Amino acid sequence: MPTFKTLKGFKDLLPEESFIWESLASTARETFDLYGFSMIQTPILEPSDLFTQSIGTTTDIIEKEMYTFKDRDKSKISLRPEGTASVVRAYLEHPTLSQQPYTKLYYIGPMFRHERPQAGRLRQFHQIGAESIGEINPNRDIEMLALLVHLFEQWNIAGLTLEINSLGCPVCRPPYRQQLVDFLTQAIHALCEDCVRRLQTNPLRILDCKKEGCRAHIGKAPASRDFLCLECDIHFKAVEEGLHRLNIPYVVNRHLVRGIDYYTKTAFELTTTALGAQNAVAAGGRYDSLIQTLGGPQVHAIGFAIGLERVAKLINPETIQPNPLMLFMAPLGERAHMLLFPMLYAFRRNKVKSELGDRNMNLKRQLKQADHFKARYVLIIGDDELGSGYAVLRNMVTREQQKIPLVTLVESTIAKIVQKADRPE
Ligand SMILES: [Zn+2]
Ligand SMILES: [Zn+2]
Repeated sequence: MPTFKTLKGFKDLLPEESFIWESLASTARETFDLYGFSMIQTPILEPSDLFTQSIGTTTDIIEKEMYTFKDRDKSKISLRPEGTASVVRAYLEHPTLSQQPYTKLYYIGPMFRHERPQAGRLRQFHQIGAESIGEINPNRDIEMLALLVHLFEQWNIAGLTLEINSLGCPVCRPPYRQQLVDFLTQAIHALCEDCVRRLQTNPLRILDCKKEGCRAHIGKAPASRDFLCLECDIHFKAVEEGLHRLNIPYVVNRHLVRGIDYYTKTAFELTTTALGAQNAVAAGGRYDSLIQTLGGPQVHAIGFAIGLERVAKLINPETIQPNPLMLFMAPLGERAHMLLFPMLYAFRRNKVKSELGDRNMNLKRQLKQADHFKARYVLIIGDDELGSGYAVLRNMVTREQQKIPLVTLVESTIAKIVQKADRPE
């Protein structure tokens, strides 16, 4: 038994997974660049009030999931439970960000919530997120949705459903909220304990309850879509129109809500059934009041976040493989080792992924190692080869062997290897 293990709800990311993550992240970075988004990295620790003031005190995140500590100077600090609040904090802190007509940022990194690990939830999970700050134009909503869909296409993940809704604004949401409370109050005996409490604090969240008793009533509940003010209605229709024009399939989910209070107008999720029950792999929405809430000017914004763990589960690992070991060098004895030792670094500097075998092992054992590393080629040098002036280059797939002159070992080997690798199969 090892002395130390990871904390409950935390996990190590091992190489067989991390290369999938790296591949996802690198595709994401390329795609974000195409849409004019730049990367931002905010700290993992922030003042607790940043999150309580933005996410909403009656949300699950603030009520029971946030990691909050007292720092040595007694100030309250929290591990970030999501990315948007930190990006907005940075936007307001740095004039270089807010002095542009609009600001497009993305981030990739860990988030922390005290979730229940028995339900398969991690307490440190990872998100790829994007924020477009500065405009209320529905074209910004459409751009975000198009970008999100494009990203999943780039990742070769199919079978997703884009669900959209409008949550209204400070003008039209209060009357809707009252209608919803009135409706659900009639069914209060069927609601779960959490939802009875939410009826007072956060009634929209009831629409997201997964318990059967609640679900039976939610289907007939009034929908925000029917209560939108003229401005919200025009905005939502423009978003729908844009999606049609771009041929992006979507469904309107009239009861779609988000677990965070700052969302206004457009809200959306990308869902799949590939991971069991209907699951969101990405979600987001417009947050037109958040920047003001955090002490800034009236600036409109929209963003999304993608769950990296869930996306990684949708990837077939066969389709993403790490770069193979191109060359394994097998020195038979001390003299061969002396010759090959500097060559190892010469090959690596020439972008050939290579390893050097152990001179004390016989050829059979070294070839076994090369197989273990899945090496494409093995370069063999023993006393015979040193005498003849030629090394043996063996293709590990075809078992074909050829001679390589020792005087031009690096150049000649690279010529053979690259030539082979470039030839279409
Ligand atoms: Zn409205
Ligand atoms: Zn419920």
